Amino acid sequence: MHVGILGGGQLARMMAEAGGPLGLRFSFLDPSADACAGALGTLHVGSWDDAAAGRALAACDRITCDFENVPAAVLADLADRTSVRPPPAAFAAGQDRLSEKQLLERLDIPVAPVAEVSSRPDLLAAVEKIGLPAVLKTRRLGYDGKGQEVLTSVEDLEPAWQRLGGRELILEGWIDFDHEFALTAVRAVDGEIRFYPISFTVHRNGVLRLAAAMLDAPAALQAAAEKALTRLLEELDYVGCLTLEMFATQAGLIANEFAPRPHNSAHWTIEGAVTSQFENHLRAVCDLPLGSTRPRGASLMLNWLGALPDRNAWLGVPGLAWHDYHKSPRPGRKVGHATVVAEDREALGRILAGIRPLLDADTAELLARTDLETGG
Ligand code: AMP
Repeated sequence: MHVGILGGGQLARMMAEAGGPLGLRFSFLDPSADACAGALGTLHVGSWDDAAAGRALAACDRITCDFENVPAAVLADLADRTSVRPPPAAFAAGQDRLSEKQLLERLDIPVAPVAEVSSRPDLLAAVEKIGLPAVLKTRRLGYDGKGQEVLTSVEDLEPAWQRLGGRELILEGWIDFDHEFALTAVRAVDGEIRFYPISFTVHRNGVLRLAAAMLDAPAALQAAAEKALTRLLEELDYVGCLTLEMFATQAGLIANEFAPRPHNSAHWTIEGAVTSQFENHLRAVCDLPLGSTRPRGASLMLNWLGALPDRNAWLGVPGLAWHDYHKSPRPGRKVGHATVVAEDREALGRILAGIRPLLDADTAELLARTDLETGG
C-alpha cells in the first residue's frame, strides 16, 4: 500500500520509519527540497496546491498529513480522488483557533474564556471582558508559540497590537495551571478507540521541551481526558491518531487545542509503548488492526532544539534512544529528540539523576518541574 503524506518533516519521517516494516511505501509533498522525510520515500517538491504533485499524491492509496495547516481546500480536493485520513473536516475545525475552541465548547469540553479580536476597540473590549493576564493569539497558522503575545498589564496592549494587529486574532484568558498534559488516542475506521497513557508536558515560550508518560496520573484525570477526547473523535468521525493538549487545574482539566496527526507529546511511544503513535496512526489510516497502546515502562522524552547535543555522551545513558531528524541546525528548530525508557518510575528516576552532568541549566530546570528525578 502506498501512503502519500502532505508535509515531509520529522513527523512524516517517523511515520515512514514505522511504516516500512509494515510493507508500506511513502510519497511526500513538501515546499522544501531538503524536507527531512525525503530520504525515506519519493519527495515531490511544490506548494500545497501544486497540480502535478497533487496528481502524483492522488495516485496513492491513502493520504495523511504531518502538518495541520495544509489548506482545507487542498485536502477536500484530494478526498474526491482518494482516501484522506484523518478526515479533512478535522483539519478545517482545528485550523482556526476560534472555531476550534467553539467546537470544544459545544462538546462540553472546558476551554479558557475567549473573545474574537479584529480591531483595537475589540482588544480593549476583550480585555474588559476576560481580564489580565491573557494571551493574544493569531487565529490561524500559529504553532510552537509563534503568533502569541502574553499580556500582563494594559501597557502590553499597544506593543502586542503592533506585532499581531491586522490579522484575525483571539484573546484567551490566562490559565493558572498546575501542569500541562496531553492525551493521544487512535481511532479505527470501525470506531474502535485506543488511548495511550497521558503525557506530562513541559513547554517554554510556547514550545514543547519535554514529555513523560504519566503512568501514575490520577484515574479521574485520565478518565476525564478520555471522555473529552472520545467526544471529539466521534464528532469528527476521526480516523488515525489525535492529540488533545490540556491544562490540569484545581477545577479540573481545561482543553487548549487538538492536533489531527501524530504529536510531539507522544514521541516517547516509539520505544515506550508496545505500538508507537506513528505505527498506530498508519494502521488506522490503512485499515490494519490497531496495535496495543500499553506502556513498556516509564518514559521521558527530551526535545533537541536548534542543534543536537553531543550524541556520544548521551548514547551512554542506559535505556536511551536517539532520534536525529537529519535537519540542518537553526535557532529554535526541532532537530531531534531522545527518549529514556526504564522498567519503572524508580529506575527512570535513578537514570535521570545520573544524566545531570549532561544537562544545560535550562533543561535541568525544566526537568525539575517533573518529580521524575526523585523517582517519587
Ligand atoms: P498553543 O500555541 O496554544 O499550544 O500554546 C503553546 C503554549 O503556550 C501552551 O502549551 C502553554 O504553555 C502556553 N499557553 C497558551 N495559551 C495559554 C493560556 N491561555 N494560559 C496559560 N498558558 C498558555
